[in-house]
Amino acid sequence: MSERVAFLGLGIMGSRMAANVAGAGFDLIVWNRTQSTAERFCETHQAALAHTPQDAAADAEFVITMVVDGPQVEQVLLGENGAARAARPGTLFIDCSTIGPAATHEIADQLAKRDLALLDAPVTGSSPKAQDGTLTIMVGGPEAGFHRARPLFDAMGELIVYAGPSGQGQMVKLLNNAVAASNASVLAQALVVGKRAGVDLDALVSVMGAGAGGSTMLDLKAGPMRTHDYTTLFKDVRSDSGEVTQEIQPFFKLEHMLKDVRLCLEEGQALGVPFPAAALTREILSASTGRGHADHDFSAMIDVIEAAADTRLTE
Ligand code: NAP
Repeated sequence: MSERVAFLGLGIMGSRMAANVAGAGFDLIVWNRTQSTAERFCETHQAALAHTPQDAAADAEFVITMVVDGPQVEQVLLGENGAARAARPGTLFIDCSTIGPAATHEIADQLAKRDLALLDAPVTGSSPKAQDGTLTIMVGGPEAGFHRARPLFDAMGELIVYAGPSGQGQMVKLLNNAVAASNASVLAQALVVGKRAGVDLDALVSVMGAGAGGSTMLDLKAGPMRTHDYTTLFKDVRSDSGEVTQEIQPFFKLEHMLKDVRLCLEEGQALGVPFPAAALTREILSASTGRGHADHDFSAMIDVIEAAADTRLTE
């Protein structure tokens, strides 16, 4: 009999990761705060529907969470109707949300009081890699749990890295995202200076891509920044009458990137270690939320740089 996996949180990332868990032959049961999302998921995937996290976890070997932040993970696992209430001895909890080491330690301690173990297993790769099952997954927590969960990680990811004790997966993830967001910020600044200097931006992007100015952010974000299209991911949405329409979703919500950079700076601050580039990036992301971009892809940070320079890349 295949092992039962409870998957809690079917947003942009969770829905795609859960689909790959089902595709790998696990016995999947899903829960989502907005139940209609979970119902739609179960119509198109081999999965059972749970009405609460507690119901989902009742017979599960593994409980995966993919929600937004620490308070949400705590609520879903330890709150009223939380998954930990139903977990049996040996159930392994795997949190794939990006919540930072501090919240992870807090939740791991709470679970340990019930003799339950937690792996922090945040992911990078955004929705296309979540869909393809090619995410990078960085894992902290008990190493035996890591080996036990390896087939699950293989179903969702390609590069799977054991990062060390509890919280270290989160710390690696925060540092990676602070660097990624800072790279995107530098790219935005270069594009705006180039535009103002009358540079052919096609030439600039193609030269940077071939040289030392290249980066993953150049490949992924120069396009959306230049077209001001921060919402290019489509997902099928089925109405009650069965009609299917397409809903636009961001690749990586700017407010989630702001959360990650903020958490990274908090860890650095607690250690007394500066990260000035990330601090500037936090300010740019923060100003972007003030300009209405919280729910857009974080490439929308170009808007703040354009406003400061009074220069638009395209009219
Ligand atoms: P998302 O699309 O906004 O989905 C968020 C999920 O959390 C939804 O299932 C949502 O349920 C649920 N949720 C929100 N508030 C909740 C609450 N109070 N209680 C319980 N559930 C709640 O987010 P996402 O892009 O999938 O990101 C999920 C996590 O992955 C975040 O930590 C993010 O930083 C990280 N991440 C994202 C990406 C990316 O490219 N998107 C890449 C790597 C890591 P509803 O459907 O009811 O709203």
